[in-house]
Formats: sequence, C-alpha cells, structure tokens
Amino acid sequence: MIELDGSQGEGGGQILRTALALSLITGQPFRLVNIRAKRPKPGLMRQHLACVQAAVAVGGGAAQTGAVTAAGAEVQLGETTLVFTPGKVRAGDYRFAVGSAGSCMLVLQTVLWPLVMAPAASTLGLSGGTHNPMAPSLSFLQLLAPHFAGGGPAIFDMTLRRHGFYPAGGGEVEVLVHPPQGGLAAIDLMTRGALLEAYAECLHAGLPRGVAERELDVLRKGLGWEDSQLRNRALRSNEGPGNALLVVLRHEAITEVFAAYGEKSLSAEQVARHVLAEVKAYMSHQAPVGPHLADQLMIPLALARMQGRQGRYWTTELTEHSRTNARIIETFLPVKFSCEPLEGGTVVSLAA
Ligand code: ATP
Repeated sequence: MIELDGSQGEGGGQILRTALALSLITGQPFRLVNIRAKRPKPGLMRQHLACVQAAVAVGGGAAQTGAVTAAGAEVQLGETTLVFTPGKVRAGDYRFAVGSAGSCMLVLQTVLWPLVMAPAASTLGLSGGTHNPMAPSLSFLQLLAPHFAGGGPAIFDMTLRRHGFYPAGGGEVEVLVHPPQGGLAAIDLMTRGALLEAYAECLHAGLPRGVAERELDVLRKGLGWEDSQLRNRALRSNEGPGNALLVVLRHEAITEVFAAYGEKSLSAEQVARHVLAEVKAYMSHQAPVGPHLADQLMIPLALARMQGRQGRYWTTELTEHSRTNARIIETFLPVKFSCEPLEGGTVVSLAA
C-alpha cells in the first residue's frame, strides 16, 4: 500500500488524479490522506469524485476496484481520505458525467493513460465542463494531442458535441483512445521551430453584445495582430452563458494554447489582459513547452521510459504543480526526474 499525503507540494487535485492513473497502470494500491488540503474547500469536490468513479469503472467496476474511506465506507463529497485498490484495466465504451460544470477534461486526464496502456481501443462519452478555468480546455487537449504521443501515431481523438462553460456545464465530448501498437514514442521537445500560425479565438454564448470584440481588441493592440488573426465565434445561445478567450501559437515543432475565461466579476478587458500576459511571457522565451503542458507531459515521459524510450523537453517554467506531479510519479514508477535549468527555463528528463 503506497501512502500519500495530499497536502504535499501543490496540495491540490492533481495528486489524486495522478495517483489514480498510476495505481491502475501499475496495480499498486494507495492510501491518500489530506486530499486537496491546500485548496479553499479541501476534500473531494464533485469533479474529483467523478474522477474516482471513472477510475473504478475502467478498473473493472466496484467488484474489481475498491475506492473507500479510511473506515471502509463508500466515498462521498468532501471526503479527505481515499483507499484505492485497483483491478485490471479494461478497454471498453464508457460514459462519465461530472454532473456539474466541473471539468470533464480532468476526468479524461485521470483515465487516459490507463486506457492508452490497455490492450485495445476505448471510447469515452464525457459530459460536464469543456472550457473551465484551472483545467486543460478541450481546445488545448485537441490541439496538443500530437505532443502527448511524442511524435508517434495519435493516441486519442476528440469530437466536441457541445461546449460546457462554468457555471452551467452541459458540455458533451466523445473521445476515442487508441493504444499505440508499438508502445509509446519518446517525447523530444527542445525547439519551437518557425512560427507558422498565430491566432486568437473568442468563444462566446449568451453574452452581451460587444464582449467578444472588446476582448479581441485588447489582443489586437497588445500583440499587434491583424483582423485575420482574430476569430469571433458566437456559439448557440443554449451552450451558454459562457466565454473562453483562446490564443493559439503554432510553431513547426510545437503548438501551444493559452486561455482565459469570462467571469461575472471581470471586465472583458481584464479577461483579455490575463491571457495576453501569458502569451507575452511565452513569446519572450525560447523554450517550446509552456507551464501547463509541462506538468501534463510527465506521465507519458515516464511511461515511455518504462518501455525503454528516453525523452526530454524544455519548459518555460517548472511550476510547483509539476514538481509535485513528479514526486507522485516517482512514488509509483521506478523513475527519477531530472530538472536542469536552461536559459531561464528547465529541461525535464529522467535520470539514467
Ligand atoms: P484542484 O485541487 O482544484 O483539482 P489542481 O491543483 O489539481 O486543483 P490545477 O493546478 O489548477 O488544479 O491544475 C489542474 C490541471 O489542469 C493541471 O494538469 C494543469 O496543468 C491543468 N491546467 C490548468 N490551467 C490550464 C490551462 N490554462 N491550460 C491547460 N491546462 C491547464
């Protein structure tokens, strides 16, 4: 039984999701205490409970995979301890609903790698939030999917049926997971290559007129972009209310996606300035991998290494989130991350 403390490092939900994924892959049970201890509302929230339930389902259901409290009871919302005993991962057709605007992309993050390591393809129907703050958006995962495959054949495809924004939710996504025939390819992301395309896309539904134009205008001025680089995408009003402002930078070797989300308490200009700051920080650097992709590449980097393929990547910033993720991965797999500074960023690889 691996003992984990959810208050270590970043102290958020990533510790839970990484532990669930690697427990299913390695067959090692774990006990996690102090779940999300450093968040304002600690314990399992609806989206985290959905991750636990999804992990149980892909582990053969409750008859094979156990997910209980310290006292052996069923886990509920707010729970701060989880004892997880994994069964064998089964490829299949799964449907998971977060049941709120919680991010269904974080449910995908939990079961993706166990299903990639399974012997056959799987389909997932996910419902919940598709474009949420503090989670990878569907757009991010769709555009960055090739990087998770390390230049090998695609390991997942996503089809968006309906957007889901906070607080209404209601997004619908279909995901096809294809385990790579010859195993995972090594990730090697050390350069960006030439910039091929740069654009911003404002997704909005059910918002007052002018919000999208005001957001795009901040980017027009802040980045010196032309109208052809600014996409105003009005969605069906029943997909809202909601607003995501995305910026996509497509280089030869890497595509990065930056996002900010409309909130009642923020002006359109504040939302746009938030994403502008992230884009400018990335543009002022040479490293290809942004801070969010950096933490999400750690599991495939380690799994490819387990299959004998050594990879590496250079990130603009190694966050506390990434460092915590590395520590959890090292607990489950016989790997040790090496994080070497390079020109204001960090090169992440696995020590020999
Ligand atoms: P919680 O305890 O609320 O679940 P957490 O610490 O797990 O919090 P975050 O740190 O916000 O949550 O990150 C969750 C995941 O979402 C991480 O893998 C992170 O890289 C990813 N993520 C967050 N923001 C973005 C973004 N703008 N683009 C892409 N991925 C993101």
